[in-house]
This record gives sequence, C-alpha cells and structure tokens, in this order.
Amino acid sequence: MGYADLHVHSIHSSDGTAAISAILKYAADFTRLDVIAITDHDTMAGVAEAVHLAPQYKLEVIPGCEISSAEGHVLALFIDRPVRAGLSLLETVLRVGEQGGLCVAAHPKAKGTSSLSFGAIEQVLTHPLAARILVGIEAFNGGLVYTRSNQAVQAASSRIKLAQVGNSDAHILSMLGAGSSYFIGNTAQDLRFALENQCTIPIRGKGLTGTSVLASYIPRYILRKLGWVSWNANPKEKVKFTRISQIMAGTSPRSVGQP
Ligand SMILES: [Zn+2]
Ligand SMILES: [Zn+2]
Repeated sequence: MGYADLHVHSIHSSDGTAAISAILKYAADFTRLDVIAITDHDTMAGVAEAVHLAPQYKLEVIPGCEISSAEGHVLALFIDRPVRAGLSLLETVLRVGEQGGLCVAAHPKAKGTSSLSFGAIEQVLTHPLAARILVGIEAFNGGLVYTRSNQAVQAASSRIKLAQVGNSDAHILSMLGAGSSYFIGNTAQDLRFALENQCTIPIRGKGLTGTSVLASYIPRYILRKLGWVSWNANPKEKVKFTRISQIMAGTSPRSVGQP
C-alpha cells in the first residue's frame, strides 16, 4: 500500500518557500509518502528537476500543475505541458485529456482562493469525455487559509462520483503529507489506476492552525520575499537556506559540482 500527496508547491510558485530538492529531501525523511505531484500555479518549471532527482530520494514524482481555470483551481496530473490559465473548466479538462492527463478538483468551494463550485464540477461531469479525465476531488486540503472549508467539502464530495483525494497543498516543508491519499500499490501508475477506479482513501492530517501559520508559514514567506528558500544539496545533506537567485540562475553549489 502506498501514500501520495498530489498537491505540492515549490519556489516556482510565487508563494512557495522550498526548492524542489528540499521538498524531495523532506518527503523522503519525514513523511511516509511514496508518490508526490509538483503542482505549481500555472507553471511546470520545477517538474523536470523533480522527475530527474526523485530516484535519488526513492520517490516517484508525477508531472503536474495547478491550473487557474475560469471557474477555479484544478490540478492537472500526468501532463507534459501546462494548459494556459483562464480557459473554462471544461476546456481545461479536455486539454489535459489531450495530453493523456487526469484532473482533480482542488479545494472545492474553499474561501479565500479561486475555487470550483460543486455545480461547476457536476456540469463538467455531464460531458462523457471530460468525465473520464476529471476523476478526483480533494475531500481534504491541508492548505493554509481554508482548512475550515474541509468539513463541508467532506460531506459534499462523497456524494459526487469521483475519487476522494487528500492533499497537503504544501507551500512549506512541514506541511508535506499533511493531507494524503492511501492507495493499493506504491507507484505513480498504481496511483493513477486508483484515481481512475475511485479507490483512493483520503487521509486527513491536521492542516495548519492559525498559530502554526504565524509560527511556520509567515516567517518562511518573509524569508522567501527576502530571497532565501529551503534547499538541499544532495540526499545525504541536511536542508539549508539558500538564495533563490542562485537556484534560478543555476549557480547553486549542486550545479557547480560541489556537494
Ligand atoms: Zn489552489
Ligand atoms: Zn495549491
């Protein structure tokens, strides 16, 4: 049996605080996750690095993206390139399907962020092709500002014929795996099968409380704005803070051949 967290943000989202290498290191050392998806906002800039590095951390990475559709955020998984923001949910889902990908409705009905209504999801599911692509819904999202939406969503999402997924929506390392899905097998393909056959089991973590937002997220967000993010040189090293400009420029120690 395996665990997956299919909603993770890196420094390639403007509000992410951890480099890809740090995400992999933390997931490997401090969570029971087997599979993660990197789902930055409307970009896949970190995905190639994540897929490349994942075997060193004994993880599998699903290429993904959190797409800002006109009706709200939707996760796209198993894709090669992002679908542009602002298209209708139906158009977005169909374009993900053209790439052989799957969609999961992110934090439905959540306040404080652009979120799909259940009406919008159900409307798309009346389209026979789209219904084979939009296969999952976040019954639990461990994200920062909308954890209270989860209670209403748990009840409502169980009435929709979609795979029930738990995700962290992590923007800081300590949130990784705070929501996850339990599935038969432990590979990305096993997870895909579980999504398509509606047999994922959402695992509801604690999510962040107001106190932990202040203690954990806000300090790291400020550091990010000052140019410092979590980063890992290699699987044997500890996570450190490094300048985001060095990572983006490819001049971090890893890139120039140091440990
Ligand atoms: Zn979102
Ligand atoms: Zn997100």
